This record gives sequence, C-alpha cells and structure tokens, in this order.
Amino acid sequence: MTGQDFPALLETFRVPGVVVHWRRKLLDGLFPPGCPLCHVSVSGVHTLCLDCLDGLPPAPENHCLRCGRSTGRPEAGCAGCLNDAEASDAVYFAFQYEGLAARLILGFKFADRSEWGVLLGRLCWERLGRALEWERPEWVIPMPLHPWRLLGRRYNQSALLAGELACRLGSPLVTDVLYRRRRTRPQTLLDAKSRRDNVRGVFRVQGSGVRGRVVMLVDDVMTTGATLAAAVAVLKKAGAARVIGVCLARVEYEVGVNPLVEYEVGVNPL
Ligand SMILES: [Zn+2]
Ligand SMILES: [Zn+2]
Repeated sequence: MTGQDFPALLETFRVPGVVVHWRRKLLDGLFPPGCPLCHVSVSGVHTLCLDCLDGLPPAPENHCLRCGRSTGRPEAGCAGCLNDAEASDAVYFAFQYEGLAARLILGFKFADRSEWGVLLGRLCWERLGRALEWERPEWVIPMPLHPWRLLGRRYNQSALLAGELACRLGSPLVTDVLYRRRRTRPQTLLDAKSRRDNVRGVFRVQGSGVRGRVVMLVDDVMTTGATLAAAVAVLKKAGAARVIGVCLARVEYEVGVNPLVEYEVGVNPL
C-alpha cells in the first residue's frame, strides 16, 4: 500500500456523525492535502489532479433551458413551463450528475466536506462564468435548508456554493429573503409526484426587497426540479423580475431509480 492509498482506505470506514469530522481533521493533519478524489499530490489546495479534471462529466444538454426539466433535447421552453409566469427564466448546470462529479457532490453534501465548496465553486465558474456574468444577477440566493437540517449538517452546501459564485460575480449573497416554512422529507426518497406534494407551500419570501430584481437561485443538485420550481415560484410571486437557477449537476431521473438514495441514508460515498 502506498502512502497515498492510506488516507483513502481510512476514509472508507463507516463511522457516524461527529466522528467523521474529527477523523478527517486528523487525516488532513497527518497527510498533506492531495487531489480530493484520488489523493495523488497536487500543486495547491482546492484543486483536482489533471486526470480527475479530465474525467469530469460534461454539462447536460437534454433539458429545457428555461426550467431544467428533462426533455430529451435542448428546448427554450417545454410544455411544463412555457405558459407558466412563475417558472424560472433560465437554468444552468455545470455537470451531468455522474462519475467524478457525483463523488465530489456527495462528499460535499453528505460527508462533511464543506471545504470542497471552494473547489466546486471554481469548477462551476469555469463552466458557467461567462453565462452567469451575462445574466447580471443583482442578488445571489442559496436554496435554504430548514434549521433542523442545518443543525445536523453544520453547513448549507448551497450557501457555500452560492457564496463562491457571488464573489466572482461581484453580487451580494442574500440569505435573509428565502426561507423554508417547514421541514420536508428528503426529496431523494420520493417519486416525482410525491416530491411536488412534499415541497408545496414550503418556501416563503421575507420582505419586499426582491421586487423588480434579477435573482440567481443556487442549488446543488436538480432531479425532478420540484424543489427549484417551488422556490422560484415564491420569488416570482414576490415580484422578482427574473429568476435564474444554477445547479452544480442535473440527475438523469428515472422513476424508481435514484442514485442519491443510498447516500442520503448514511453510506459514506468516498
Ligand atoms: Zn485526482
Ligand atoms: Zn421547461
């Protein structure tokens, strides 16, 4: 076994909760940071090795460019959003949810790898920066977590990502406008219809500051799009002039098959 394999091997032991956090702190102290995915030495922190960088999947192309729903080909507006005044105005994805991108996102979301937000923010910007600059959002809003879920995870991964993008855009990160009214069941455990029911009436907008603004709403992963659509709808109802969705990745969703399920219930993805 090489020295590079050892931290990877230790990462595979399944231990719960706070132990993961301190075990990782110890490993980072013992072994200098390498590529987050394969642990080979790299020249700086928050960076992938060239092999992993080359192995990242492409951005998806077979979706509605307005609402992000899967349509089998790029479309400027699908049957689900064409006449819907409360649908998003554009949705951007950095990756197809598969392979190395999925591993990065799972670690970021479920394995306490909050620092990967810097790396994912940069990768996202490299792919989407020009388009997002063209959109000129006045506010960058992260998809909110319910306070109880925030307590369990210790960070809102969408807020970390949104912060990285907001910095590069020079637009403010706004976290006190969009809130969750109640806790929802994890979306990854539900089929498409149950997801829409699960998020109905879940979001609320505080204040009237969003009126007339171009807003960028940032989330980590889109599957059916039900959560994003519900959040966009309340922002539009509150008077937002234009709402742009930005997600790290799009899951090619099949009813009854959900690649996130096993991770949400506690399997270490790394
Ligand atoms: Zn690598
Ligand atoms: Zn659409």
